[in-house]
Amino acid sequence: MHIAILGAGITGLTLARTLSLGLVGRGGGPIRISVLEGQGRVGGWVQTQRKSVAGEDAVFEQGPRTLRPSGPAGLRTLRLLGDLGLAEDVVQVGKGAPAARKRYLYVQGRLLRLPASILDTVKASASGPLKGLVGSVLREPFIPGRPRDLEDESVQDFFARRFPGADGIQLAASAMMHGIYAGDYRKLSVRSCLPSLWEAEGRSGSLVRGMLLSGSKATTEEDEARHALKIHYPQLMEMAETSAIYSLRQGLSGITDALNQVAIQSPIVTMRPSSPVTKVILDESKAKVMDADWVVSTLPGPSIASCMKGSPGNPIPYTTPYASVAVVNMAFSQRVLPLDPAFGYLVPVREGGDALGVVFDSDALPSQDGARQGGLNRLTVMMGGWKFKQIFGEKPHPDDVLKKARRVLKEQMGIVKEPMAHHVSIQCQCIPQYEVGWWDGMRQVDEWLRSSTGAQGRMAVCGAGWGGVSVNDCVQGAEKVGHALLDHLKGKTFSGASPTLPLTGLERFRK
Ligand SMILES: Cc1cc2nc3c(=O)[nH]c(=O)nc-3n(C[C@H](O)[C@H](O)[C@H](O)COP(=O)(O)OP(=O)(O)OC[C@H]3O[C@@H](n4cnc5c(N)ncnc54)[C@H](O)[C@@H]3O)c2cc1C
Repeated sequence: MHIAILGAGITGLTLARTLSLGLVGRGGGPIRISVLEGQGRVGGWVQTQRKSVAGEDAVFEQGPRTLRPSGPAGLRTLRLLGDLGLAEDVVQVGKGAPAARKRYLYVQGRLLRLPASILDTVKASASGPLKGLVGSVLREPFIPGRPRDLEDESVQDFFARRFPGADGIQLAASAMMHGIYAGDYRKLSVRSCLPSLWEAEGRSGSLVRGMLLSGSKATTEEDEARHALKIHYPQLMEMAETSAIYSLRQGLSGITDALNQVAIQSPIVTMRPSSPVTKVILDESKAKVMDADWVVSTLPGPSIASCMKGSPGNPIPYTTPYASVAVVNMAFSQRVLPLDPAFGYLVPVREGGDALGVVFDSDALPSQDGARQGGLNRLTVMMGGWKFKQIFGEKPHPDDVLKKARRVLKEQMGIVKEPMAHHVSIQCQCIPQYEVGWWDGMRQVDEWLRSSTGAQGRMAVCGAGWGGVSVNDCVQGAEKVGHALLDHLKGKTFSGASPTLPLTGLERFRK
């Protein structure tokens, strides 16, 4: 039996590990797994560069930089780190640390601190851009729940409906969508991007009431993940309870590098970097280069859609749009920030401009400054996102991108000093945009994957393009798909396994 995994980002690598662990030495006949990756390197958007700054190694993250240790998906990732032998490399930001408690919005030409406690919220609500916040929250439970036939709406419309006239909430919501999706909150779907809020309103008819009722209740899945982590890696469980966010000392590529090693050492996995998939044909009699019994794609939607254009049946009925981000890492020889240590700031849509936000890397994770800890100031400016083309055109030159990033620092924080090191990455089409209608699009893809005129059950999907952009979501999605495949193979010889996969990876969209 041959299983092909398309893509070797965090999702494809985690899936390969899950399947390998469950299948090596199991008996049942010959089995092999091929992981096909288009690039010469693995890891996808997980991209750490260790840059020599004044003779010291400093971490420049060009993709994800921090993970949350909470919820079932967060706990699952921690368990994975433990299994990979990375527990000692974890560097955390404690819940009480400035980088956990101090986050800013850039509003009307100045940095506005977001409230981190009830008292802060009451104070912020008295005047300024967050004026009236507390009153809006107190009034929300008395606003009728959404109409029964409302299936989805934009993040902007959702907050406008639940908190009418609350300008501060609109500012924060649009900035948050810049931070997570590099997306426009006027287009992004609340149901898809903020499912827990959508569900809380659906359950109780009020967002505030729904959140309060579900706030302290852990799901069975979370309880199980907590229990497993406590037994296997008690120090990581303790870290999860006391931390707001974390990373690895050497940067997050440490995870994908370790997963790659596991795959390389597995007797049943073949890693095939520099092997772009250009066509997927779901008919074994027509296989040309490689044939596989099962295919699991972790490729972004547009990529797999283009691979299947010429295959029998209809093309994939829906493809997710993606946003590009310019990521500019900079290191200064001394502290240049005009404020006390903090995580960084986000820019709401209304402010316009090039920046989505700026992360104060050295404040959040000083141990990634190498031996110059305390003597280096690393920052990352994120620009573009949904307005990338408008700002940069088709193919911006890195020097122009750097200039724009320095202008952001000058205009928003008065920083004019030249960085002693920098790195510009133009991350094209890197973050899926779950816009209004995306949920329904996923439902159509799910049907297509199963239908006899579509993929005939021969392919499943997982990864950021198909539900949840965070690294935690990707790990959770890959492990769930992997375990479902293993369950399906239980007690069977591989040659007797049905060519139809037991899942599509999109079951949750059937509700
Ligand atoms: C700038 C940025 C910042 C982020 N920050 C955070 C953060 O702080 N925290 C967090 O949790 N998440 C963050 N994310 C999100 C997270 O990093 C990604 O969603 C996640 O890494 C996606 O993993 P994936 O394996 O699903 O997809 P990908 O990483 O896209 O992997 C897919 C793989 O498929 C390969 N591929 C594509 N087409 C083909 C083809 N035709 N043939 C063969 N191979 C192909 C690609 O080369 C790639 O390696 C960030 C993302 C970006 C871009």
